[in-house]
Amino acid sequence: MGDPSLLKLHVVKPGDKIALKDVDPSAMGNFKSKQDARKLILADHEELIRLQDMMYAEDKHSLLIVIQAMDTGGKDGVIRHVMSGVNPQGCVITPFKVPTPEELSHDYLWRIHKVVPPRRMIGIFNRSHYEDVLVVRVHSLVPKEVWSKRYDQINAFEKHLAENGVTILKFYLHISKAEQKLRLQERLDDPNKQWKFSTGDLKERELWDDYMAAYEDMLNLTSAKWAPWHVIPANRNWYRNLAIGRIIVETLRGFDMQYPQPAEKLDGIVIPD
Ligand code: ADP
Repeated sequence: MGDPSLLKLHVVKPGDKIALKDVDPSAMGNFKSKQDARKLILADHEELIRLQDMMYAEDKHSLLIVIQAMDTGGKDGVIRHVMSGVNPQGCVITPFKVPTPEELSHDYLWRIHKVVPPRRMIGIFNRSHYEDVLVVRVHSLVPKEVWSKRYDQINAFEKHLAENGVTILKFYLHISKAEQKLRLQERLDDPNKQWKFSTGDLKERELWDDYMAAYEDMLNLTSAKWAPWHVIPANRNWYRNLAIGRIIVETLRGFDMQYPQPAEKLDGIVIPD
């Protein structure tokens, strides 16, 4: 059995300075193999379904899960794994693409704030406001004096959300450059995956080191007590899914939830034929 508290193992402690080159993307915590983790993955999955049902019924908490990664990092895979089987009514997944002209005519948090999950919901951001200090920084889409102020702005925004009842978990899926090459090659070779291939991804790959620098600053400047970043080793899909599933389950357990009491007295009620 592996470390029961992955909440702590992969978190970027606020104030710490992590270097991504020191994080092994193939790490598997204290697990020896996928087989070793299998039972726990299944148990966590059941538990997540149970806890989400209670969260929806209780109507007290909202959970925002932010997922960021390089291309092929496994964002879609995580969402598919973690959310399979949960009540779709209690869950909203929002992908963030290149901003539309309307979105660009507002401040960069406008499109984000609108879709922060309300009470009882789990909201998953597939990419997020962090693109505004990642792709925007790497491609100099705005001047440095604009993007460099965003770290503080994002911290303040997330603190505001947290103080207003939104629990925030942030995951950076950490793959190696060599693993990305394998995954891009697979997309090229497999007719069922070719639709996912874009030559634009190769252009971004050329900027790998710039992205790593931008990711490092993001992790070091915006991991907060109220909105922690987790660096998830993601070369192995099973470990990535296990770690994220565990962290979500541990977080939901911390809500200490209960099903609400019935609104009226139920004693003696007989359902008519
Ligand atoms: P994904 O790769 O997430 O599956 P796409 O292939 O449609 O989906 O890529 C979405 C693109 O939108 C990415 O290249 C991403 O960098 C870009 N994007 C997201 N947010 C922003 C932003 N705020 N400014 C510029 N580009 C952005």
